[in-house]
Amino acid sequence: MLKFVDIQQRNPEKESVKARSKNFTEIYSRFLKDKAEEQSARCSQCGIPFCQVHCPLQNNIPDWLKLTAEGRLEEAYEIASLTNNMPEVCGRICPQDRLCEGNCVIEKSGHGAVTIGAVEKYITDVAWEKGWVKNIHVKKEKNISIGIIGSGPTGLAAAEQLRIQGYQITIYDRYDRPGGLLIYGIPNFKLEKEIVIKRTQRLKNSGINFVMNCEIGSSIKFSELQEKHDAILIATGVYKAREANIPGNNLKNIFPAMEFLTASNKKGLGDKVEMFDNGTLNTEGKNVVVIGGGDTAMDCVRTSVRQNAKSVKCLYRRDRENMPGSAREVANAEEEGVDFVWLSNPKEFKGTSKIESLIVEKMKLSEPDESGRSKPIVQENSEYELKVDVIIKALGFDPEELPKLFCEDQLRLTKWGTIKTNFDTMETNIPGVYAAGDIIRGASLVVWAIKDGRDVAISIEKYLKKKSYQKIKAA
Ligand SMILES: Cc1cc2nc3c(=O)[nH]c(=O)nc-3n(C[C@H](O)[C@H](O)[C@H](O)COP(=O)(O)OP(=O)(O)OC[C@H]3O[C@@H](n4cnc5c(N)ncnc54)[C@H](O)[C@@H]3O)c2cc1C
Ligand code: SF4
Repeated sequence: MLKFVDIQQRNPEKESVKARSKNFTEIYSRFLKDKAEEQSARCSQCGIPFCQVHCPLQNNIPDWLKLTAEGRLEEAYEIASLTNNMPEVCGRICPQDRLCEGNCVIEKSGHGAVTIGAVEKYITDVAWEKGWVKNIHVKKEKNISIGIIGSGPTGLAAAEQLRIQGYQITIYDRYDRPGGLLIYGIPNFKLEKEIVIKRTQRLKNSGINFVMNCEIGSSIKFSELQEKHDAILIATGVYKAREANIPGNNLKNIFPAMEFLTASNKKGLGDKVEMFDNGTLNTEGKNVVVIGGGDTAMDCVRTSVRQNAKSVKCLYRRDRENMPGSAREVANAEEEGVDFVWLSNPKEFKGTSKIESLIVEKMKLSEPDESGRSKPIVQENSEYELKVDVIIKALGFDPEELPKLFCEDQLRLTKWGTIKTNFDTMETNIPGVYAAGDIIRGASLVVWAIKDGRDVAISIEKYLKKKSYQKIKAA
């Protein structure tokens, strides 16, 4: 096992900065390698891979753990990438405690799960470093084109799978950079942006065409896309922020989570962001209250901590046990000094032009109803006032009104506003138009977006093959 004391024993005066950083990189990589091998060797190869069953991609975890333990990293990477288009992304940001690791047999026996996510991240990071991640090799080009709306993980995974089969792919996105929530939602401290940029660059290098700053509905009509492409995939995610409909909601310095996170991510990417640069969206030195209990709320509190906010509170109307966010994320936030105010609801935002304080009412939980969930109920006479400079609302997301946005009345929706699709094929009610990812599931996870992207690619390919066959038959 590597001893970190090595670093302290060296005389730094005698070494150049370059040599010192090289030594550190070598020592650190060796440490990661030792850790990955040690963790992989803990896998008992139990024969009933619950981890694999509970991974949405059914990753062949036991096999790549075994290969890693044996030091056969290139083979481990090959197996990991067979089922996942972005293993290094999932390794970093999957809520493993609810998926693979939470179901590890060793975890169940009380000895702590094998750190599957960390090993998946490690082997793919090494693969990038060693040049094992190659551009897509297309065996035979096909003169059939597919338009994908949205460059989030759903669109990217579908594009890769279809490009492998030789289709001509164009991805349209209203943002200036590809990646969807991977680039502008999830903060850099959880997912470094170079990782996302490397992935999208690889797709560009593999012949996938990206049309950025292009909003379907306003920049190009949906009907134009239908004329241009043989099939269409809608992978637009969900972006309509849920509102806190309480008095004072229009005061200054009350922001939706995505506005705050996008500004912070753009700043991190080196962009000029006026609202950040003039201090409006920068929480440094301010008292911040984030409202909500999901992973987006956790990203907002942890971003505020990194911006050196004076104090950061997270207000949630249920208790810790009933929080939708990952337990690991809550623990991380607490460790970083975030103050969780459980069973608390905002009642009124107060201030003259800017927010100055918040009236909070205490809640209690009812007995669980038929669905098994307890309802938060207001406690009588429990109100109190909290001083605050910035409020960030992280109350969840709903789908935008796509038929209206796309000027396409035909597109059928569910009662939740998500796109209605055939359960097996993900085809919408419009032939040749498919939908996948958050826009059909509601706000979900990256790993499910990748799974949907892969599944919908299979359906689109079947549709296109059938269409070509019918054309040949009719000719
Ligand atoms: C703050 C935050 C943190 C998260 N953290 C995690 C996490 O740690 N782990 C995890 O697994 N999941 C996390 N998620 C969830 C995860 O990011 C999403 O489930 C996933 O990105 C959904 O992928 P998608 O491709 O369906 O949509 P998105 O990633 O939302 O991509 C949709 C794309 O479509 C584009 N688009 C939309 N409408 C149009 C239009 N009309 N024309 C052109 N382009 C359009 C958008 O610009 C966007 O680029 C988080 C979500 C948020 C908001
Ligand atoms: S993709 Fe996510 S759930 Fe599956 S093995 Fe990797 S970290 Fe675990």
